[in-house]
Amino acid sequence: MEDKIKNLLNGINEPYLKKGFTELGFVQEISLNGDKLKLRLGISDTGYDGLAGLQDSIASKIKEGIPGIKNVDVDFTLGVVNHDNKQKSIVLPKVKNTIAIASGKGGVGKSTVAANLAATLTLEGAKVGLIDADIYGPSIPIMLGAGGRPGIVSVENKNKMLPVEQYNIKLMSIGFLIEDNSAVVWRGPMASSALKQFMTEVEWDELDYLLFDMPPGTGDIQLTLSQTVPLTGSVVVTTPQEISLADARKGHLMFEKVNVPNLGFIENMSYYLKEDGGKEFIFGQGGGKKIADEFGVKLLGEIPVDTNIRAAGDNGKPIVLANPECEVSKIFRKIAKNLILEINERNISPSKNQGLEILI
Ligand code: ADP
Repeated sequence: MEDKIKNLLNGINEPYLKKGFTELGFVQEISLNGDKLKLRLGISDTGYDGLAGLQDSIASKIKEGIPGIKNVDVDFTLGVVNHDNKQKSIVLPKVKNTIAIASGKGGVGKSTVAANLAATLTLEGAKVGLIDADIYGPSIPIMLGAGGRPGIVSVENKNKMLPVEQYNIKLMSIGFLIEDNSAVVWRGPMASSALKQFMTEVEWDELDYLLFDMPPGTGDIQLTLSQTVPLTGSVVVTTPQEISLADARKGHLMFEKVNVPNLGFIENMSYYLKEDGGKEFIFGQGGGKKIADEFGVKLLGEIPVDTNIRAAGDNGKPIVLANPECEVSKIFRKIAKNLILEINERNISPSKNQGLEILI
């Protein structure tokens, strides 16, 4: 019976990816009780406009195909396509997607974006982890109001660290391992080795998305990451002005060189919303769009300068959680949805990209 239901569900396309629910691995639950069928299906955006219509066509198709079923109830939850890669089982085997949140320059809001994206993806129903790969200047513990030491668990007779959990996000940061205020003076190889340990010596449970808040620039840490895990892709954060775009370009090109696809740019500090509703383009206009077009990738969104974003970061609760209904939070939701879709679309048409040779 289950096979019959799965067959019928495969005849219906997920509206964004235009492939059958079964083929996509989006059939999450089938439970039959008498003549009542309950289904839980994945979808790339649970806010899809045509959800009611889709539910009706699924119900009719099943009832038509299996006359014994009289009642069909469908629940939709976020559907995440696994980034399948032949090197995948080596490191982080339980993580579906790994994404580097990068920037050319420091201070463009990369950590702010990483923290808010992690929180938004969690709100969308995803299981999310965030590694603070900025070993020299970790901001994630402050921005997410997280502290304490990681727990220890024994896995196959080996001690592993457990991520610190905050707001449903699994976190790892060098900030959890060093004394407060102690300056981290490390040579490059030591920082790289710390990042590797965050992947190999931490017990990461099943995750839909593991984000990496990268240090700015194109150095050792970026190379280490791209050589340690087959990344799903990068997201490059930039501000609109030329001085920032020039470095964002370098960021994009570096990931391209190591065969990591850029999933898109995010323009931060795009404008200031004036009291009269007008926009003031403090750092210039259209830079993010320009660079995205230049490389033929998506501009995932434009985030305004807003005091509340800064205050929320300083207070340890990202704006999307502190004030979910404000305009900026809606923008973050839009960006997260664009990112989810971009990842799903890329993962169903696997490229030849296998990343660099894995070093571990
Ligand atoms: P990066 O990780 O690129 O160095 P951060 O995320 O640490 O940048 O941001 C630098 C500072 O700018 C932080 O104080 C942060 O709260 C603030 N900030 C980032 N984005 C915005 C924004 N859109 N509006 C207002 N303040 C912002």
